[in-house]
Amino acid sequence: MTTDNNSPKKVIPIAAVAPEEELVSLYAPHQKIYPRSVSGVFSHWRWVMVWVTQLVFYGLPWLEWGQRQAVLFDLSVRRFYIFGLVLYPQDFIYLTGLMIIAALSLFLFTAVAGRLWCGYACPQTVYTEIFLWIEKKIEGDRAARMRRDEGAMTSEKLARKTGKQFLWIAFSFWTGFTFVGYFVPMREMAGAFLGGQLAAWEFFWVFFYGFATYGNAGFMREQVCKHMCPYARFQSAMFDKDTLIVTYDTERGEPRGARSKKADPSKMNLGSCVDCSLCVQVCPTGIDIRNGLQYECIGCGACADVCDTVMDKVGYPRGLVKYSTENAMNNHWSKEQTIKRVLRPRVLVYSTILLGIVLAIFVSLATRTPFKADVVRDRGVMARVIEAGKIENVYSIQVMNATESNQRYKISVEGLPGIEITSEPTLSLEPTKARWVPVRVQVPPEADKPGSHEIHFIIESLDSPGRLREESKFVIPR
Ligand code: SF4
Ligand code: SF4
Repeated sequence: MTTDNNSPKKVIPIAAVAPEEELVSLYAPHQKIYPRSVSGVFSHWRWVMVWVTQLVFYGLPWLEWGQRQAVLFDLSVRRFYIFGLVLYPQDFIYLTGLMIIAALSLFLFTAVAGRLWCGYACPQTVYTEIFLWIEKKIEGDRAARMRRDEGAMTSEKLARKTGKQFLWIAFSFWTGFTFVGYFVPMREMAGAFLGGQLAAWEFFWVFFYGFATYGNAGFMREQVCKHMCPYARFQSAMFDKDTLIVTYDTERGEPRGARSKKADPSKMNLGSCVDCSLCVQVCPTGIDIRNGLQYECIGCGACADVCDTVMDKVGYPRGLVKYSTENAMNNHWSKEQTIKRVLRPRVLVYSTILLGIVLAIFVSLATRTPFKADVVRDRGVMARVIEAGKIENVYSIQVMNATESNQRYKISVEGLPGIEITSEPTLSLEPTKARWVPVRVQVPPEADKPGSHEIHFIIESLDSPGRLREESKFVIPR
């Protein structure tokens, strides 16, 4: 091959080419979810839980027990009243026990039935259900709400939206007010509110809790479960192949496809799923259960309820979407076989520990001394030598009456030869009251060598059984 050197050279212009830029957002745009209302067994149970939990929550602060509120965590005087129980900060161990019980119960219920708590009793679920109910009553069900949101603003739309917001805000305010009623006597607070004399901090907490309810149940909804709740993230660690989860029966349902009611699916090579998408429409987190277990699934069973209604309509057996376990699905177990697997070692261990802690707390509460005492050596007053060479130390003792009646207490001391209390050794306390008393303790000069010596104060109730022994130090100067 030859080249002609005299032929003009071809010039290829080089131009700077701007690199193709694509803006990649790290955040998925939020798609508003319009859950369709549903009725069925699981929806019924969710409403039962809504009623039970909310009757307890809104009712308890109004319940009286003798002369006081039945359940009150009175932070101002550091006293916690739970029906007949009067607890002091020193009883913190019971709160710890309660938290351990709550955590273990969560582990246990999750191991047995997955996200039972999320689907039926979590405040986020319960309040979202109530807010959705209000929304449905005012704006209609899913299709009507979607249509209205897409349409232009009209006076009717404005009126409905305003009415819904008004009810949401009123309900949220009432929720915040009730919450604060667990920490401040409810009836007094209601009086103060009506008289326009609510304290600033009470007002703040009513507003704060109310605002949280309004924001979480009215707007955040499934976002809380998907992105804020830590439980969704670690729940999988508590699941095993025998945990009940809401499952789509792929074997039975696929291949999915629409068909007429009279059509024979086997002839069309179709499974039981008619691909109506209702299970997606009712899902409060907007997922498709047919894609398998997803962390967004709160186990509410709404998809199972709606699918059962579809199965009824097309004349197929119920249970295409149902509560089942991975093992049961894989091995085609019957209901009885599945239930039998509930009592597996993991569940038995959780149950035994839980039962042990509950029993320990009950025994401890039943046998606890009905008063508390704190001994503090008065560091402002030095150990001193008084008349006849006696040595005196001064203490402050706080006695807390945890009963609902007047009580008398006697204080004595032991631990050194000739040790005695020279101040008033008895005191009286009104129901649930606490008081600090100064206590002077003296020993004879020959009692012991100089230094710090261990002594014990004995505080006895004169009106009910109970005796406490509190350790302290007695200092003999050189
Ligand atoms: S509701 Fe049932 S039939 Fe309808 S799409 Fe979902 S799984 Fe299929
Ligand atoms: S997939 Fe079903 S059970 Fe899970 S959150 Fe959605 S509706 Fe509830």
